[in-house]
Amino acid sequence: MNKSQYKLIFQFLVVFSILALVPFLYFYSQFNQLDTKTQQYVEQLNRNKLEYSKAELQTSLTEVSTSLQYLSNNSMLDKVLQQPNQENIQALQAFWLLIVRTQGYYSHLRFIDAQGMEVVRINSSQNNDEIVPLQQLQFKGDRSFFKYAQTLTNDEVGEFGIDLESEYGEITTPLTPAYRVIYPLSINGKRAGYFIANLDLTRIYRGLAYKRNSDYLPNIVNNDGYYIMSPNNQGIMGHLIAANEQANIALQYPKLWQMINERDSGTFRSSQGWISFTTAMFDKIDNIKKLTFFITTDFSQAQAFTDLESRALYIQASFIFIILFLLSFTFVVWNHNHIKNSLDSKIARAAMNGMSAVVITDRNNRIIQVNSEFTRVSGYTLNDVKGKPPSVFASGKHQQQFYMNMWKVLEEQGLWEGEVINKRRDGSLITEILRIQTIKDRRGTIQFYVASFVDISHRKELEDRLRELSEKDSMTALWNRRKFDSEMQIQVSRIKRYRKHETSTLALIDIDHFKRINDKYGHDKGDEVIQEVARSLKHHLRETDLVARIGGEEFAIIMPHTELNEAEMVLNRIRIAINLENELNITISVGLTEISASAKETYKRADIALYESKSLGRNQVSVFSASEADTIA
Ligand code: GH3
Ligand code: MG
Ligand code: MG
Repeated sequence: MNKSQYKLIFQFLVVFSILALVPFLYFYSQFNQLDTKTQQYVEQLNRNKLEYSKAELQTSLTEVSTSLQYLSNNSMLDKVLQQPNQENIQALQAFWLLIVRTQGYYSHLRFIDAQGMEVVRINSSQNNDEIVPLQQLQFKGDRSFFKYAQTLTNDEVGEFGIDLESEYGEITTPLTPAYRVIYPLSINGKRAGYFIANLDLTRIYRGLAYKRNSDYLPNIVNNDGYYIMSPNNQGIMGHLIAANEQANIALQYPKLWQMINERDSGTFRSSQGWISFTTAMFDKIDNIKKLTFFITTDFSQAQAFTDLESRALYIQASFIFIILFLLSFTFVVWNHNHIKNSLDSKIARAAMNGMSAVVITDRNNRIIQVNSEFTRVSGYTLNDVKGKPPSVFASGKHQQQFYMNMWKVLEEQGLWEGEVINKRRDGSLITEILRIQTIKDRRGTIQFYVASFVDISHRKELEDRLRELSEKDSMTALWNRRKFDSEMQIQVSRIKRYRKHETSTLALIDIDHFKRINDKYGHDKGDEVIQEVARSLKHHLRETDLVARIGGEEFAIIMPHTELNEAEMVLNRIRIAINLENELNITISVGLTEISASAKETYKRADIALYESKSLGRNQVSVFSASEADTIA
């Protein structure tokens, strides 16, 4: 990984940290509040159940109280008391049976005589109500509740409090809590017996279940924390059997007990689970002042809620952090690209405004941009050429083949470089060192062409001039010997390539008796004569013919595509013209030959022909063809 990548990662982390700080604190506090939320949830969950049970118990007790008042002060009971005969007893038994069946609050309704012997007894349970037959009636004179009953005055109503049911001296199992309400009965002030109602606490308790669902039964503990009722009977009436820890909530959960004594309701987190409680005051019942109802919600049950909550939080948090992640990422990348792009565009601007003229075309090769250097060099502004192809600059100096090759190279290599002659806006020519580069997209398709060039017209002119100077004769402005030699080479190699295709001809010219001119008129005049002859030659020859001064007063003419006889005619015409045009009656001698595959041989033949003209008396044209030379050789 390079330095700039580290920098990007660092930037990303900084941006992400800043953006994530507030959401992080929010979610951190939300996760911390999960426990409180769970507690609230549990409390809400249990409050209805507890309040329902509490209200239900209060209703039941009120009903029991009304019912007992009626039962204790009833004419049928009175009749049995006065006359405990078969008829009265049976009537009372039938009445009580009806009562226990319809009300369901009692486990026993009894009439016990003053000595403690049961006289009438109805047993009632969830499944069965029965009149206890005579032979099964028991003596209860020795039981503590009976002893308590004997202590009551005639007007008193005795409540023996909560006790465990026992029969024949044995505590019944399963443990059945009993609550005895005792009404002393008397005739004319004399104690005649007792009406004793055993409340079926279990059945009353079962009726407290919220929505009749026994899972919702609360635990009930008394003033001292002892269990009176619990859904699974666990620990109930423990204080009557053994005062162990299981039997007393104050011992089980001291902190909870403290909370119960301080408040009417609440939820406590114990080691086993959540415990929701509510308390109820029962002033009417002597030895139960306050009852506390509580329900335990174990952690696994609450956990389901916590899990749900925390999952929702996790999802929210993940969502937020993913968004923040993407935001940070996008920002950093955007920022990076922005900086890079602005740098790139600065570089591009700098490049655009550099020394080179630049023309940019789109993929259809239409001009979309030019720079100021281009405008300066070519005279065209962007408006002049926008949307046009670069062929508007074409000078016509290059052939179709040249451009086809350029496109082929561009297509294949993405780059073309070379020298091009184009046209300025004013029509003048411009020589350019041109470089065209393609810009491709990711798929490799050409999108742009960037052409940059340097104007080398001046240099080119200079070069041309220098070359001309080195190839021109300064006195006559004709080509010099060097140019003549190189042109001869070109002609010879052409002949070699296209053998016998066409004839070109070489003429060597020498002014006759030139020494005399010098001697007679001076050297300067001689020079003038040379210049005059040069002018005449130039005047009478074609553009395509090359005229060179190859010696003091010697000239050479290369005539491409010219047959020997044709050349002979031309040169005779020139010979006469020079003589006529010159006031000093100058004449010239000429040697002619066709250009063959050897420059040296050709020159030699022309020289021989010239020599022949001199020897034959001058002022004439002689021809010495290659075939003549062959026959001599
Ligand atoms: P011919 O008819 O045999 O050619 O006789 P010619 O006198 O012309 O003899 P040739 O061609 O051998 O001599 C050329 C003379 O031209 C020699 C030289 O004095 C003269 N000469 C050569 N170059 C120049 C020049 O540049 N200027 C002048 N004025 N004279 C030149
Ligand atoms: Mg000469
Ligand atoms: Mg001469």
